[in-house]
Amino acid sequence: MRVIGLLAGALVALTGLWGCSEPAAEEELVVYTSRNDHLIKPVFDAYTEATGEKIRYITDNAAALTARLQAEGERTPADMLITVDAGNLWNAADKELLQPVESVVLKSNVPASLTDPDKQWFGLTIRARTIVYSSERVDPSALSSYENLAAPEWKGRLCLRTSKKVYNQSLVATMIKRLGEEKTEEIVRGWVANLATDVFSNDTALMEAIVAGQCDVGIVNTYYYGRMKRDNPQLPLSLFWANQDDSGVHINISGAGITRHAPHPEKARALLEWMTQPQAQRLLADRNMEYPVNTAVKPTAEVQSWGDFKADDLNVSVAGALQVDAVKLMDRAGYR
Ligand code: FE
Repeated sequence: MRVIGLLAGALVALTGLWGCSEPAAEEELVVYTSRNDHLIKPVFDAYTEATGEKIRYITDNAAALTARLQAEGERTPADMLITVDAGNLWNAADKELLQPVESVVLKSNVPASLTDPDKQWFGLTIRARTIVYSSERVDPSALSSYENLAAPEWKGRLCLRTSKKVYNQSLVATMIKRLGEEKTEEIVRGWVANLATDVFSNDTALMEAIVAGQCDVGIVNTYYYGRMKRDNPQLPLSLFWANQDDSGVHINISGAGITRHAPHPEKARALLEWMTQPQAQRLLADRNMEYPVNTAVKPTAEVQSWGDFKADDLNVSVAGALQVDAVKLMDRAGYR
């Protein structure tokens, strides 16, 4: 028993060091991030090169990182949380894991609609979730809005990703905010009635189903479309900017906040501000074909080739505030 106890203790100590042989130096910034290593490492490397500040980071999904921050409480080594979707950031703030940051730099570089009203998190990049369609079987003049995909003309022609994904919860949350529960539920029921097939686990599988002829239209984040098109430019898929006559395309963010018990809040703030400057904005957005939050910075030529669009200007915090309502509504409407 004693040996097992010692082994368990050794394991805890090892995982505490994230597989590294040296303990974290006191002055090092520590970041918990759900962004993949290949997306975030170039950003941290550039920061270290520019400032000499070292960054230690761990990657995991948002739920795991949030749980870890909760468990660590005041003893957390983490200075910053970086994750995707305003719903996830809102949850971290709701659990009192982040702290407000007053900063003129952040205020000028990050639009107010992409900033937490309490300033506990800030958008770093924008992701657009819009309509994708078969360029072989759909005339884009037949398309207009997310709501219109509930119309009878799309019966048996619609593909959707699962409602379990936070991206769709956020989309429906913004619809509740704009249209009210009753109208939104009617639309979601219409979507479900129009489904050509069972829901998909991811956006890429959904687009593959359109290419294969299983359905004609769907809703996806544009960077997944960009990846597929980059691999195969001939794919008969096109993007359609939804709701250009009214609310605009649903957008969401990847973003960051400084942890409530950050050991180095001033250094964390400097990093957060730096990430909203042009050089970092390009590093953050370009690799994943997202849009910079800083309007002075243009997306890549490839992303620009998809065309300009009007984006929904609702504050993205709605995605968090109405997430529970959205999940319940989708459940009632039979959207699995
Ligand atoms: Fe994604």
